[in-house]
Formats: sequence, structure tokens, C-alpha cells
Amino acid sequence: RRSIEKSNAQFQKALKRLPLGVASTFRYWGDDRTIYVDHGKGGRIWDIDGNGYVDYRLGYGPAILGYADERVDAAARRGMEVGGVFALSTERELAVADRIAKMVPGVDLVRYSNSGTEAVMAALRLARAHTGRDSYLLIEGAYHGLFDAAMWMANVEEWSQRGGGDPEVVAYSKGIPQELKTLAHLVPMNDLQRLEDTFKRHGNDMAAMLIEPIQGNCCGISASGDYVRLARKLCDQYGVLLIIDEVKTGFRVARGGVQSLHGVTPDICTFAKAMANGYPIAVVAGREEVMRTFRYGGAAHGGTYTAHSVSLAAAEECLRILDETPALETLAKYGENLKAGMSRILNRRGIVHSYAGHDSMFGLFFAEKAPDNYRDWKTSDYSFYDQMAYHLHDLGVICEPDSREPWFMCEAHDASCLEDTLVAFETAV
Ligand code: PMP
Repeated sequence: RRSIEKSNAQFQKALKRLPLGVASTFRYWGDDRTIYVDHGKGGRIWDIDGNGYVDYRLGYGPAILGYADERVDAAARRGMEVGGVFALSTERELAVADRIAKMVPGVDLVRYSNSGTEAVMAALRLARAHTGRDSYLLIEGAYHGLFDAAMWMANVEEWSQRGGGDPEVVAYSKGIPQELKTLAHLVPMNDLQRLEDTFKRHGNDMAAMLIEPIQGNCCGISASGDYVRLARKLCDQYGVLLIIDEVKTGFRVARGGVQSLHGVTPDICTFAKAMANGYPIAVVAGREEVMRTFRYGGAAHGGTYTAHSVSLAAAEECLRILDETPALETLAKYGENLKAGMSRILNRRGIVHSYAGHDSMFGLFFAEKAPDNYRDWKTSDYSFYDQMAYHLHDLGVICEPDSREPWFMCEAHDASCLEDTLVAFETAV
């Protein structure tokens, strides 16, 4: 193992002031493994002990061009000169919204938020205001943010021991009122019959169906095109609004998001991470008639930091690059090459494996077929994957163990990153 002495010392000091020693619970990796970053550049990060890593987490996706991208950072500095926030609008809001509408076919109108959580929260509020209904449909395994309505999950551990029936719906977290549970319906991903049945039972009362088309929290489990198209059809039939949450996939898998790959137009969609290369900004966007419900007397929406001049300027430049240059093709090609290299190493040892997701964000599974729903994913054995991931850390490559986020690619991942990764991968395996 490489020395992370300084990180360990920082952790002990930080514990006194920061719960779990970190700023976000997901950054706690155990008392002797939690590391602190000194800086990132391109496709790599360096910790405070001076260890370098090829990074495939990219802040859970945002650093689409790579860390400290000079083009986006220069734009952000210009945004700084504008002055921050004014409780008034600036011209750049329209320029960025125009770019998003050009890139994403289903987007007529755009509202800004600061984080994915806020954008999805606004999307659900909007759907409820527009339909006059309260309940909504979630897909098991999806992550839509930290707000109460999004934090219902299937208790698969208990269900797999019991056998049969459906998993109980439970809150992700303490502190979420049980009363809210009656509003959330859950279905397993990619089960077409179950989706139809659920709409038959609850469709007339539901405001929205939320779908995360590539589930970032489950190693890239993906909705099939047939599933997304059936969701669209049923939503139309029952007057339910389709919310496609592209916080992680948007401006990453394709210029127009996963929705454009499936040829499905949602009523509302959300974007965040990749749109500004890591500067905090998000959007809720969609069909004109629905989006106009953001008005006095309709759905309330706002925020002190919304459309902050720095984030907005960063988004303008990042989206320009993603739209006008082959950055997305470059990083998808890198992902394809990385998977091919991993497969060569695994095949030489006769290790059965498969991938889920997209070349720009893929999950690796040590099974013949990648799971396509949370129940199968949650009940699989991941001990080999997790051990491999921890070995990779020690060898200078960061992917996500335990919660098993996909591997994220950025434009700055280059031939040297690929080579270093594959050398480490071979050793770790
Ligand atoms: N939706 C999806 C699909 C996400 O992946 C995330 C973040 N992982 C969120 C919403 C919440 O975004 P944030 O962390 O910016 O609040």
C-alpha cells in the first residue's frame, strides 16, 4: 500500500470538526482509507501525500473535460468579473438556455438550479403543480438526490431472505417522515408487465414517473429502449408527466442525453454534472406548456444562488465545447479502449465479465451478463470487484468500491492514463 500518512493525520484532525471527517458522507472511506485531495489536473488527481491517481470517479461525473480545464476556468474567471448574484437576471442565462435547447430536442424552456437534488426537487414540484396530483413513480435503485420524496428504496436484503412478493419500501435515511411513503410507488427496472400493472392501479393518481436511464448508483444498470418507450406511452395514456433525470448522463452519453438515444421526449428533464465541468449549476427543462407552470400562482421556484455568474459562464463554455468539438466522441472512444484492454486482461485469465451503461460511464461486472435491475444487482456477489477496486487504489487508479458507481471517462484521459490504468488493472486482478 502507498503511504497515506498525511491523509490519515488529516482525518484524525478533521474528525474533531467535521462529521466523519468529511464534507459529504459518501467521501468517508473508512478510518484508514479516507483520503484528502491536494489537486486534480486532466484525468488525474493527487492526494496530500503526493500520490497520483488516474481518476475514474471525476467527482461522480462532472469533470467531463478533465480537472482544471483551462478553457472552462478562463470562462469562470470572466464570470467572476460579472459579480456573482444580484437577485436579478443576466443576459447569459438566455445564451446557455439557447444552447441547451439546441442540444436537447425535447427542451423548450429552461430553469436553473444549483445541484441535481434541487433540479429534481423542482421537477417533481412542477409535475405536481401541473397535474394537481401528489403521488409519483420511482424505479428501484435510482438516485435522484437527497430530498425526502426521492429517498425511498426497496429493501432487497430482507426480500431476498423472505423470497417471493415484492421488497418492502423503506427510507434511505433516518429523518424522512413515514407519512410520505404512501405517495411513492416503486417498480423494478425493465419489467414491462409490472410497469403496466402499476399504471393500471395508480396511474390516474400519479403526477410523474421519474426515470434515471442509466443508474449511476448501481454500476450503470440501464433502462432498455423498450422500457423507456413504454413509460412514455403509459404516461401519455394516464396523464402522468415523464421526468427523465439526466443529472449524471446529460451532456455525457450524447449531446441530447440518453433520451435522444432512445428517441423519447420527456415532459421534464434535469441536467447538472457535466454541463459546467464541475462548477455548481443544474437545470430543470422541458416542454413549454409544462414549464410555464413556473409562475406566480403556479409552481414556486427560485434560489439566491441560481444562475450564479461564475457557474453560468463555465456552463456556457463547457456546453460550447461539448456541442461544437468531438470531446464526447473522444472520451467515449477512450472508454471503449479501456474496456477492450480490461477484457483482454480478464480473458487471458478466463475471468467471466460483462459491462453495463455506456462507453462514457460504464459498470464492470464479474458475471456473464450485467444485471438490468436493482434486485439482481443487490443480490450479486461483489467481493471480487471490491477487492480489485481497493487494490487499484493502492496502485494509483481510483474507481468506486462498495457503492460501485460506474467508471467515468473525461476528455483529458489520454494514452498515458490508459497505459497506467491497464498496468495497474493487470496487477490488481
Ligand atoms: N439525480 C441523479 C441521476 C444523480 O446522479 C444525482 C447525484 N449523484 C442527483 C440527482 C443529485 O445531484 P446532487 O448530488 O448534485 O444533488
